Amino acid sequence: MDTSRSAVEELIWERIALIPDPEIPVISIVELGVVRDVQWDGKKLKITITPTYTGCPAMHLFVAEIKAAMHEQGFDNLEISTVYAPAWTTDWLTPEAKEKLRQYGIAPPVMCSEDSDPFEMPPPVPCPRCGAETTTLVSQFGATACKSLYSCNVCKEPFEYFKHF
Ligand SMILES: [Zn+2]
Repeated sequence: MDTSRSAVEELIWERIALIPDPEIPVISIVELGVVRDVQWDGKKLKITITPTYTGCPAMHLFVAEIKAAMHEQGFDNLEISTVYAPAWTTDWLTPEAKEKLRQYGIAPPVMCSEDSDPFEMPPPVPCPRCGAETTTLVSQFGATACKSLYSCNVCKEPFEYFKHF
């Protein structure tokens, strides 16, 4: 975390951290790692965001929410820019966000090795409910493209897995 933030920037980060992810309301867009930078020069507020994945329909929702929250705080001279590089990865999810996902019933992304082989078997996804490691992939696509559907071999409950990418 950047320690050179001004008090105003600190307050803005706190306010943005109250905005929930439109798809997973238990985590905020800051915990999701979407908000990359906040700069306040005394006149103009610049916020930089990186979309979670290309074509994410939730992206303009984030922008609208940030704009509304900032106008509410009196920041009318606002510029929101989107950067695509480096691309967002699930590694940017904070450990707190991963724990919240698990409690919400969604298995958080499992880290892959640095030089992951695309033909390699995906790592086992533990069941978010009972912690069992024997789970079965039911479908590559869950409710959204970034999640897959699994079923636990122990408690027999289906659950969603937030894919690592
Ligand atoms: Zn289970």
